[in-house]
Amino acid sequence: MSDLSELYQEIILDHNRAPRNFGELAQANRHADGNNPLCGDQVSVTLLVDGDTIVDAAFKGRGCAISTASASLMTEMVKGKTVAEAEALFARFHRLLTGDAGEAAQTESDLLEGELGKLAALAGVRDYPSRVKCATLAWHTLEAALTETEDTVTTE
Ligand code: ZN
Repeated sequence: MSDLSELYQEIILDHNRAPRNFGELAQANRHADGNNPLCGDQVSVTLLVDGDTIVDAAFKGRGCAISTASASLMTEMVKGKTVAEAEALFARFHRLLTGDAGEAAQTESDLLEGELGKLAALAGVRDYPSRVKCATLAWHTLEAALTETEDTVTTE
């Protein structure tokens, strides 16, 4: 195992063991639920959005280590971002996991250079298509929360 994949492993284990922003925001004004029936992951995302800014974000639910770590990383990263920035981040993350190999490698190295480096920890999932849905569930749910007031997303 390379140093990088050991680091990736460590980030995922850490966020699964001690998820950040776990729970429900008392003052949330956006909410959505997500399901990944393939794996049994369930996530509920609550947000406090003020104007164009995601002031606070939390998630709860249960699922595999990948889905929990991804949701934890997501809440950490979208806090304080504008809605447009969060959507752009999801687009990059999606490219990292589902783009062709060249695109994904470029996105991974871009992510590693920036403050969003930890997201690259989930890059390994791209080799396991069934786990991609585990990694993107929280993000699809975030998007639903941002675009609708109340919704349930099912990834298929
Ligand atoms: Zn899963």
